[in-house]
Amino acid sequence: MADRMAVPVIAGNWKMHKTPSETRAFFERFREIHAPREDRSMIFFPPALSFAAAREARGDRTDLRLGVQDIHWKAEGAFTGAVSAPMAVDAGADFTLVGHSERRHVFGETDDETGKKVRAAFDAGFVPVLCVGEKLDERKAGRVDEVVLRQLDEGTRDLDAGMLARMLIAYEPVWAIGTGETATPEDAADAHGTIRERLGERLDDPGDVPILYGGSVKPHNAAELLAADDVDGVLVGGASLDPEAFARIAAA
Ligand code: PEP
Repeated sequence: MADRMAVPVIAGNWKMHKTPSETRAFFERFREIHAPREDRSMIFFPPALSFAAAREARGDRTDLRLGVQDIHWKAEGAFTGAVSAPMAVDAGADFTLVGHSERRHVFGETDDETGKKVRAAFDAGFVPVLCVGEKLDERKAGRVDEVVLRQLDEGTRDLDAGMLARMLIAYEPVWAIGTGETATPEDAADAHGTIRERLGERLDDPGDVPILYGGSVKPHNAAELLAADDVDGVLVGGASLDPEAFARIAAA
């Protein structure tokens, strides 16, 4: 944890999992086993069609904050299947993921598109969580810093310092997502340090920007990852689908 970070962010990306009914069941259980706590910031990213169910099931537990998994960069238009930032804000989202590795590598999203989406989130009045991370071949070729910094620079190119200071970054090495392979705390600290240094070229207080680690975070490894230098939280995929496992990560 960087010294100035207020509290660790524990975020769950549900990807294309959980129907509205399953979402309600999740929150019913999660609310029982995870009491509100000042020392954690909890964010859930349910699928768009389950967002309303999540908001309703969260009820008065506003400590359980909500985001969407992706937005289009246009506010409206002929973009079948897409969700816009104003729609997400109106539905009650406080955050949006941008540039998740599945958006980049399964759906072909470009750095240019992530840049437009990050700016669109601020224009709509909510906060982007920009995901960056290298593929295995890029790591093996010693290109981690190059890839991560390119994604960071392009993703944040349209922001002024005020916006940059309010966003979140998630470092998610692609080879660690959904594979059971986790970066070591040292690997995470290295990449986070690189990101922090770059933010420091544009911000007086780069330590104010939470940098989350994502990639096979589980109850058994969450504590050591959260203890690594410059790791201000975790973005959890698979283990966030199970209320018990996610509550254990939140308590790590
Ligand atoms: C993710 O979806 O952002 C992720 C990190 O997934 P997992 O925890 O399953 O690796």
